[in-house]
Amino acid sequence: MSADYQVIDDVAVITLNNPPVNGLGLATRTAAVEGLQRAALDPAVKAIVITGAGKAFSGGADIREFNSPKALTEPTLHTLIRTVEDSAKPTVAAIHTVCMGGGLELALGANYRVALPGAQIALPEVKLGLLPGAGGTQRLPRVLGLETALNMIVTGTPVLSEKLAGTKLFDELLPAGSGLVAGAVAFARRVAGVRPLPKVRERQVEHPDAAAFLAAARARVKAEAGPFPAPVECVETVAASVEKPFEDGLKFERERFIHLTQTTESKALRHAFFAERAASKVPDVPADTLVRDIRSAAVVGAGTMGGGIAMALANAGLPVTIVETTQAALDKGLATIRKNYENTVRKGKLAPEKAEQRIALIGGTLDFAHIAQADIVIEAVFEDMEVKETVFRRLDATMKPGAILASNTSTLDLNRIASFTARPQDVIGLHFFSPANVMKLLEIVRGAATGKDVLATALALAKKIRKTGVVSGVCDGFIGNRMVEQYIRQAGFLLDEGALPQQVDAAIERFGFAMGPFRMGDLAGNDVGWYIRKRRAIESPGVKYSQTADLLCEAGRFGQKTGAGWYDYEAGDRTPRASSWVDEMIVRHSQDLGIARRSIADEEIVERLVYALVNEGAQILEEGIALRASDIDMVYLSGYGFPLFRGGPMFYADTVGLATVLAAIGKYARGYHGEAWTPAPLLVRLAQEGRTFNG
Ligand code: NAD
Repeated sequence: MSADYQVIDDVAVITLNNPPVNGLGLATRTAAVEGLQRAALDPAVKAIVITGAGKAFSGGADIREFNSPKALTEPTLHTLIRTVEDSAKPTVAAIHTVCMGGGLELALGANYRVALPGAQIALPEVKLGLLPGAGGTQRLPRVLGLETALNMIVTGTPVLSEKLAGTKLFDELLPAGSGLVAGAVAFARRVAGVRPLPKVRERQVEHPDAAAFLAAARARVKAEAGPFPAPVECVETVAASVEKPFEDGLKFERERFIHLTQTTESKALRHAFFAERAASKVPDVPADTLVRDIRSAAVVGAGTMGGGIAMALANAGLPVTIVETTQAALDKGLATIRKNYENTVRKGKLAPEKAEQRIALIGGTLDFAHIAQADIVIEAVFEDMEVKETVFRRLDATMKPGAILASNTSTLDLNRIASFTARPQDVIGLHFFSPANVMKLLEIVRGAATGKDVLATALALAKKIRKTGVVSGVCDGFIGNRMVEQYIRQAGFLLDEGALPQQVDAAIERFGFAMGPFRMGDLAGNDVGWYIRKRRAIESPGVKYSQTADLLCEAGRFGQKTGAGWYDYEAGDRTPRASSWVDEMIVRHSQDLGIARRSIADEEIVERLVYALVNEGAQILEEGIALRASDIDMVYLSGYGFPLFRGGPMFYADTVGLATVLAAIGKYARGYHGEAWTPAPLLVRLAQEGRTFNG
């Protein structure tokens, strides 16, 4: 049973019981309908209360039934709501903690609603690119009024029940801490004899000037929705609650809901939703693996990354001690942290006392002995194997047994780093992205010897500090940077052949990327890649890339920090301005190579940049560096500004069709530096079999 039935006095109480949030899956719907029928037939029952067990009234649709025929099997959510609404005996929804999506739509079918304060009330479907498809767009405006209902449906943001006190949504708000079921039963007994039964569907939508309000809402939401169709459809369906009779509005809602389920944007959002959940699961690490207790942390290095990592930990309430080599470096790092918090306070995003609490959690030292008792230490020193070796030998000698030793290295071999210690099982990579206190992505690098409990602890820590943790195997650049290297190589080749940085950036930004490769280079510092290329030239000569990036760095144009990079910058201004020096350098370089520059279409730019990611992603997948295609998508969505409405590079390739992607790669393989386009065997295989990465 996934709904319980009991009779208290002369009131039937149906309790949805489907942990964790009483999702309205088939078994729950069936049990609820059976409960309603049983109550209808029992002459001793005068009224019916519907509530939820445990941590929710109901969180809505059961996500385990997404994309499953079960969602459409009778009794559907529509049927359940109709059964509640058409009940001959009064129905009362008793709401607490979470009442969202289909859960709220169910409650709106009841004749009455009583609630406890603190309940989160929402119709969040828009966040998955959908709209409430079980009457929510028609019933909510009838109890909350047009404006409040429209805002809730268009944003999906939860509102606390007490904020909605006094609206027609609730007939009674019970005192905090009182017994919900007892209160609901008492309420039901009071109204048991009232006829006719009040129905939300029979109410009128309230608004002094609905037509003008809707016209303004249509314009505003259209402008804010960007590439997503759902918010606009939400407005249209809510408008139908005013403009059409109830049944017609319901039909219209159904039609627009089905339309949205078919859009790529909604498919992409749902893919991202499931990808995020999947990323925290590692097949050979059971969900009940015992994790290590993390109550205190240490960070080695107070530079760009060390400071940001310390902030990310302190933001989650963990005390952190930073170790540095000199007092000057430590003071500078701590001062930067304070300045960052003060800026956040100035922008009104953090209360001053909260900022002080967080700053107070971050301490500094020059003595490794002071961090010996930390449960985890994250190293963020220079990207140099010798420096890493010194630090890890030191950590091995100092840290208490059982402490996790993590490295934030971006490119170095984690297994070698682990070999500098006598406890490689405790060593793991935690690759944060800059700024580490802001960026969502955390690549969790699993070394050959990394303990399963250490990996599980890292995944739990990622959750605690509100990062999207994605597990990567050991390779140069891990998932994200290894792929981005191919993307940046293509961007460089495009310059050699005829494009300019501003054209490349504009084309890929129109595709939806937050920032094109050249603006990104200027922001991160072009010297970073320069040093890596110099190292590679020794380690693996023969990998070709456009020399324009080196010519840029040789001229000292490292990016925003030097006031000039691929673009020019004016003092104190981050606006990129096209640079005639850069344009001339690029044109001259093409001449030196004997290349006749050609005009390159935006479509080619986008294909070459995105398919370079896809092809390397396929290689990474085949090598087992990434556990699943959706993990690669998560890396790109949360760390590289890949457009969410396209679902990540691998999902995007699936929507284009892998055979089409492969054909384009074949074409580019015959062009300039075609050797960069060896198709990944996995891509070839899947394309031949007509399959997808995320299949
Ligand atoms: P950084 O130069 O800003 O900071 C490094 C800090 O480490 C300096 O303050 C230095 O004084 C300190 N340090 C050096 N040796 C030390 C030692 N033995 N003990 C204690 N402190 C020591 O460098 P960063 O940009 O913060 O990079 C740090 C690490 O993070 C590198 O491995 C880098 O590859 C990685 N990383 C950087 C980025 C980025 O965008 N900058 C992103 C992800 C990962």
